[in-house]
Amino acid sequence: TIGVSLFPGDGDKPAALIENARSAQKHAKTLGGKNNYQFFCRETNESVVEQLQLEVDLHNAIGSDQFRLAFQPKINTRTGSINSMEALIRWYHPEKGLISPITFIPTAEKTGLVVDIGRWCLNAVCKQAKQWVDKGAGDLRVSVNISAIEFADDEFVSYVKQALKHNNLDAAHLELEVTETTVMTDIEKSSKIIDDLRLLGVTVTMDDFGAGYSSFKYLGHLNFDWIKIDRNFLLDATRHSRTKTLYDGMVAMAHEIELKVVSEGIEKQSEYNYVKNLGVDEIQGYMISKPVDALEAERILFSKNTQRKRVG
Ligand code: C2E
Ligand code: MG
Ligand code: MG
Repeated sequence: TIGVSLFPGDGDKPAALIENARSAQKHAKTLGGKNNYQFFCRETNESVVEQLQLEVDLHNAIGSDQFRLAFQPKINTRTGSINSMEALIRWYHPEKGLISPITFIPTAEKTGLVVDIGRWCLNAVCKQAKQWVDKGAGDLRVSVNISAIEFADDEFVSYVKQALKHNNLDAAHLELEVTETTVMTDIEKSSKIIDDLRLLGVTVTMDDFGAGYSSFKYLGHLNFDWIKIDRNFLLDATRHSRTKTLYDGMVAMAHEIELKVVSEGIEKQSEYNYVKNLGVDEIQGYMISKPVDALEAERILFSKNTQRKRVG
């Protein structure tokens, strides 16, 4: 693997040229494979450096209290009450401020750090759920997103068990959200994991359905409790009549195989009316609430009547 830097554009001193050639070589290595060469490029170099810095910072963030959970309610379409709260991770970087999971989860996955981050989330979710249940939240579920790497970890199910036990939480209050891409690498293994989780009493939801392959095979073979239909599928359905027919059919089919349905990304009353009339069981989206911090989530949770009014 070769990195190339050129005099004088990439440096007018030997040390600078060698340093930049090294960085080009690193870039060549990240492209994978061998027999590869790259010329030094200032922009690429900056993004490589940024990426490396993100990895270092992410490493430090674990164990130094920089993560928080935000929560977003899922509302029962029949009663208007909150059935579930989805936990969404937030990273408060000491210098850069708030960093979205969309930015750092892919890096966390690439480096394997997502396993530790996921364990932190799972534990924090169980702890929060226990507090809300003890305050009278009834049969509330609190859900957490599980990345493919965590799900494939051999210790995953036993860690879930441990987190429940450690926080003295009944499994009925824990919900796990996994995407289709997470389960499709090894369908037999995934099927076993899902069954084991359900045996514990945990609820398992397929997240973002309609965003990827949307394969019926996985829906047929895997015993999910819930299917969450992606916002993009909904947006498409509101614009194209053929997609609308598919969305309608998807909800009906899911119900036929005893899957409950949650529609995510509901922003407008018209979207709410559409999915409610279809018989969708729960909805989630900015129309009800954006993700909020734990205190605000608790306030919303324990004032369900205001929620009912807002849903209309
Ligand atoms: P997701 O699980 O599909 O979460 C839904 C995302 O859509 C959230 O973004 C949420 O804020 C956003 N959203 C909710 N309602 C609406 C709406 O009405 N309109 C629109 N336009 N967006 C809405 P967020 O919090 O930035 O999370 C993005 C993704 O990051 C999540 O997608 C999930 O895949 C991942 N993620 C978040 N927290 C965790 C975590 O703790 N662990 C792992 N592994 N992944 C996480
Ligand atoms: Mg989710
Ligand atoms: Mg989703």
